[in-house]
Amino acid sequence: MYKGGYAGKILRIDLSKQTFKEETLPEELVKNYLGGAGFAIKTLYDEVKPDTPPLDKANKLMFAVGPLTATGASCSSRMAVVAKSPLTGAVGMALAGGQFPAEMKMAGYDMIIIEGKAEKSTYVAIKDGKVRFRNADKVSGMLTTDTQLVIKDELGDHNYRIACIGPAGENLSPMACIINERRAAGRKGLGAVMGSKNLKAIAVRGTQHPNVVDAEKFKKARQVMNKAMKESPVLYPQFSKSGTPMVVDATSAMGIYPINNWSATGEIDMVKGLGDAAQSKMIIHKAHCHDCPVGCSQIKLVTSGPYAGYMSEGPEYETTYSLGSTLGIDYLPAVIAADRLCDEYGLDTMSAGVVIGFAMELYEKGILTKKDTDGLELKFGNHSILLEMLRKITYREGLGDILSQGTKKAAEIIGKGSEFYAMHIKGLELPAYDVRGAKAHGLNYATAYTGADHNRGYAFQEIFDIPVPEKVDRFAIKGKGRLTRWNQDVRSVTCDCAPMCAFLLDMAVPDIACQNTADLVNAASGTSFTAAEIQRIGERLNNIARLFNIGAGFTRKDDTFPKRLMTEPIKAGASRGQLISQKDLDEMLDEYYTERGWDKDGKPTAAKLKELGL
Ligand code: SF4
Repeated sequence: MYKGGYAGKILRIDLSKQTFKEETLPEELVKNYLGGAGFAIKTLYDEVKPDTPPLDKANKLMFAVGPLTATGASCSSRMAVVAKSPLTGAVGMALAGGQFPAEMKMAGYDMIIIEGKAEKSTYVAIKDGKVRFRNADKVSGMLTTDTQLVIKDELGDHNYRIACIGPAGENLSPMACIINERRAAGRKGLGAVMGSKNLKAIAVRGTQHPNVVDAEKFKKARQVMNKAMKESPVLYPQFSKSGTPMVVDATSAMGIYPINNWSATGEIDMVKGLGDAAQSKMIIHKAHCHDCPVGCSQIKLVTSGPYAGYMSEGPEYETTYSLGSTLGIDYLPAVIAADRLCDEYGLDTMSAGVVIGFAMELYEKGILTKKDTDGLELKFGNHSILLEMLRKITYREGLGDILSQGTKKAAEIIGKGSEFYAMHIKGLELPAYDVRGAKAHGLNYATAYTGADHNRGYAFQEIFDIPVPEKVDRFAIKGKGRLTRWNQDVRSVTCDCAPMCAFLLDMAVPDIACQNTADLVNAASGTSFTAAEIQRIGERLNNIARLFNIGAGFTRKDDTFPKRLMTEPIKAGASRGQLISQKDLDEMLDEYYTERGWDKDGKPTAAKLKELGL
């Protein structure tokens, strides 16, 4: 069925035995799951029992790219990293861009499956199909930038691209991420899974460009996408210059930018400190992922004050919230420094920030005292304690040890009613949209297979007022089940499997995404997908992920929100008075489950599974 596009091989690495083997990429996998997250989640479903403890050596860690990666299709250097998550206990899937995904494909593989556990700290070097296991003692405990530099030196080739963990992953924090260059496969604690396997890094180097079967058709499909990108009123005119920080201005105006652990959304304006204009002043350089003409990524440098000398690729929108607004901090230099430190520690900026915001609110309420914080004044707005808190979390010292386990677990340990202030769903900390004022966004948080994850079904209709597939009222409840299903299925396949950067879907190509993905993939691979079949793959992915989670013990009651969002309305601003009551949630869930062909408990029906060939 496929003749090009794919590398055609899966690399299976056994760290316990220090062996590897190559497997031919099965036609069935291509036909039903397309690539990226599809390949990796199907592998998780088939090969990891859902009750496996996430940090047990029986858990597996997959890195998977898609048929468009390294073909020259715009913004397609993306990979899905998948394992059972130690933060949520559900499917853990994180996406990352940068150069590593394209290099992995050129090194000869569509997916790398990591099994077992190395006896000692190890890294794996892969060059054009040649695999070596290397002792990682020299880089153990090292920060991520230095780790990458030392490994490149040791391999004698600075063209290697490296995905590695920092001390947070080695110390098994369920908030640890995997860093390649300055890009993170963040959230869901996949860095801890890597750490549990004593795998410090994977280095890839390749020279094999995938074969594009029909170059003329591929060029035409690329032109269609490039035209849509150029015609977008946002993508090049604004997003290419400002990147995601421009969303701070938008969500602040909508009254949904969360402040002070979601207790003061709409009450305090942080645009002056964290918004587009403030961020633009600090840009010294721009960065692009492989094959990306947009280049949304900006390098920012602090040149004066207490954080002078800190530089980060970011902070992007989510991090302005997690290390800024939800901590009551609008001093951008502090956010830049904290962002950089998280990358160096290999600590997810979003989870780490949100758990600190949680601790700050507990401190303000007297549930935590100076005795618990080793004397630190954990007050909203006090940026002077931020870097020290990140260090304590990474090295699991004192309160940092409790917080390093994530907000859900920390609330269970601390008790005293702290769960009310714990902003997570299924254990994953909430992203930067106060969903009381954006209901489809909220329903996606509640139902996404990874927990509160904006990336699984981002409701761009509510944030950017784009009327595809239909115009929506962000406060309305009715219709959000249908919309969320569409958002999750289309995004899952086009962004997570093909793959294409999600910003293209949100800002440029939502109306043509499935057709254009079909055209690009067919031209590259010689396949014959229709747009409807492409969308069906997204649906299949969401169903198989749901089945894994049901096996892991998740039910309808986990498709919910923190109590605060269901009982406390937003107090001020453009979303004043909004909340999501239990009745609202039930109505949205009933509609969503019906749209999905699931029963009242959120289980896929036998008829639906048969229809999807599951
Ligand atoms: S738009 Fe930004 S995140 Fe997306 S591929 Fe380009 S540089 Fe990477």
